Amino acid sequence: NLRVVTLDGPAGVGKTTLAKRVAQELSIAYLDTGAMFRIFGWKFGEAAPSMSETELEEHIAQYSFSLSGIGFDSVLSVNGTPVGDEIRTEEVAALASSVAQLPVVREALKRVQREIGAQTSLVAEGRDMGSVVFPTAKHKFFLDATAEERGARRFKQLQEMGKPADLDLIIKQIKERDEQDRNRAVAPLVAAEDAHIIDTTELDIDGVFDAIMSYFE
Ligand code: C5P
Repeated sequence: NLRVVTLDGPAGVGKTTLAKRVAQELSIAYLDTGAMFRIFGWKFGEAAPSMSETELEEHIAQYSFSLSGIGFDSVLSVNGTPVGDEIRTEEVAALASSVAQLPVVREALKRVQREIGAQTSLVAEGRDMGSVVFPTAKHKFFLDATAEERGARRFKQLQEMGKPADLDLIIKQIKERDEQDRNRAVAPLVAAEDAHIIDTTELDIDGVFDAIMSYFE
């Protein structure tokens, strides 16, 4: 009896932290679909705008994804190798956001995501999990917060990691990515009609976690 929980929302809203925690609590896998777009952005994002559809399909066909483990221990692998930190930069995020506008890319990843969801119960984190990829999921959540609040959170994270950070620049990058994600023609970032929308601006992680878990019996 497979179960899919979807968790969508804009960049920097805390989806990853929450999705992992919810997956852990429910003892199911956590699927980071942003990582899939990031891999493509990283591998061929720069060249993508000048590629034909056939060329894109050839590139996409070289990658196969697999998911193992549960909750915090979930591991997404590409061609057998766990996805690492090299994709966690703003540059790769921007490339991911631009390949994410290409219908061939979205179609290919949608197919893979559904295949994985047909094999394992999971919490699927992304932008269009509830609206497009898993429309019949029983539990759908959409997290939101102002760009300023999301920027401030990311700034704090970077500071804690001892990395240089510029708050104004971070907010600007978040707004640009929001704009690109919300306004694209295919699968724009939008809450599914039947998603529970949670505004996290005034909530801490525990508050959001409790709000999500209150929908499960
Ligand atoms: O969530 P994350 O920041 O890793 O996602 C990177 C980019 O990938 C997003 O800005 C978005 O453009 C794209 N994405 C998407 N659909 C998803 C997940 C991510 O378009 N389901």
